[in-house]
Amino acid sequence: MKHCDVFIIGGGPAGSIAAAKLVQAGYDVKLVERQVFPRFVIGESLLPRCNQLLNDANMLDSIEAAGFQFKGGVAFQTGREFEIFHFDNNLGEPFNSSFQVKRELFDHELLKDAERKGTDVEFESEVTAYDPDANIVTVKTKQGDIETYQAKKVIDASGYGRVLPRLLNLDAKPKLALRRATFCRVQNDVRPTDGTDGYIYVDVYGDNDAWIWNIPFNDGITSVGIVCTEAFFQSFNMTDDAFWDHIVHTHPCAKERYKNASKINDVGSLSGYSAAVKKLYGDNFVLVGNASEFLDPVFSSGVTLALESGSVAADLTLRELQGDTVDWQTEYEDYMMRGINVFREFVESWYDGRLQTIFFTEHKDERIKQSITSVLSGYVWNPKNYFVKSPTAAVNTLVAMIESSKQPV
Ligand code: FAD
Repeated sequence: MKHCDVFIIGGGPAGSIAAAKLVQAGYDVKLVERQVFPRFVIGESLLPRCNQLLNDANMLDSIEAAGFQFKGGVAFQTGREFEIFHFDNNLGEPFNSSFQVKRELFDHELLKDAERKGTDVEFESEVTAYDPDANIVTVKTKQGDIETYQAKKVIDASGYGRVLPRLLNLDAKPKLALRRATFCRVQNDVRPTDGTDGYIYVDVYGDNDAWIWNIPFNDGITSVGIVCTEAFFQSFNMTDDAFWDHIVHTHPCAKERYKNASKINDVGSLSGYSAAVKKLYGDNFVLVGNASEFLDPVFSSGVTLALESGSVAADLTLRELQGDTVDWQTEYEDYMMRGINVFREFVESWYDGRLQTIFFTEHKDERIKQSITSVLSGYVWNPKNYFVKSPTAAVNTLVAMIESSKQPV
């Protein structure tokens, strides 16, 4: 049996930031990653809060040096209606921009950085079992050998692998409807010429039946994905490829943007990606990133929440290793759920149309716009923001005001 201070399952953003923080504090960290890097993973649009978290972990320099596409905001459009949120017009948050990233490159940069800082990284090895009482992790190595590790803390950052939720029966039923994403990368799209070419554009399709993400990279390639319910997709009786073509070429904005574009890879799809857990931690382990909760891609919150949870889990683990008592319920689970629930309200009100009523109303108070921008920037813990303090009440009150102002007098 081998020993380490902290054992981390998975080398995505959540695992890398946790590892980097712990090794910089002088602890001995083993990180096991199932795949060879660089590896593809979906989720290419980041939020300004990511930059702050990477900065706090001394990891922003290597990401900036990699020269990813600058992202200054987010635009929503239907073809008739349009609204744009510039990240620098927020409630005074410290970071005002982020990046659009090919995740295979971004995740590799982060993991290399964590390794340079002292993490013992092992690729192509898979965690296959876990004993929560003895805190012993079983690993099947690349060579097919079985090794065991005893750690003081285990951090599960296995993303869609959901290692500990599966092994410890922690999965809960997600509350959101079953949706699917159909996506590919293209070249030769027509980008905006007003300085927003690096922004993510979100196109609402039909009567809010689907939405399209347009995520531009700095090498002229753009990621284009369609998100809808499984039932909407099935109603077309088409292959992924034919469905992607049909939706993109029948949306007034996408049709124009991709009129000369060509696909550079096969159209892929993913469904049933929303996930929830009964508990975010146990006596000896903590779940971070997508191994815990994942809502929906519409506000690009996944990597932000992965970095936030990896970062907070590392800070709390550090305190525990130094002999401090940590209240994981209030300091980790309740904290994370507060931010997740702000995004949950945004996601639910996006799909039932309330949020679009707010986004596309013509007369928006500047303070409301700044508050929405702060949420869309990933600042979902700022108590000065009404959308953070009372997300449902904030959305419903605004919708009611907008609706009543439309009533004839
Ligand atoms: P991951 O990045 O998934 O990394 C987990 C790692 O663990 C993997 O490398 C995997 O190989 C490894 N692993 C798994 N099992 C094992 C095992 N048994 N042993 C060892 N290693 C293991 N987020 C955004 O921020 N912006 C977006 O625009 C966005 N778009 C999205 C679109 C769609 C359709 C979906 C479904 C998600 C999107 N997301 C987006 C979410 C984003 O993909 C995730 O939130 C993010 O990748 C989570 O990072 P992570 O570090 O938790 O996990």
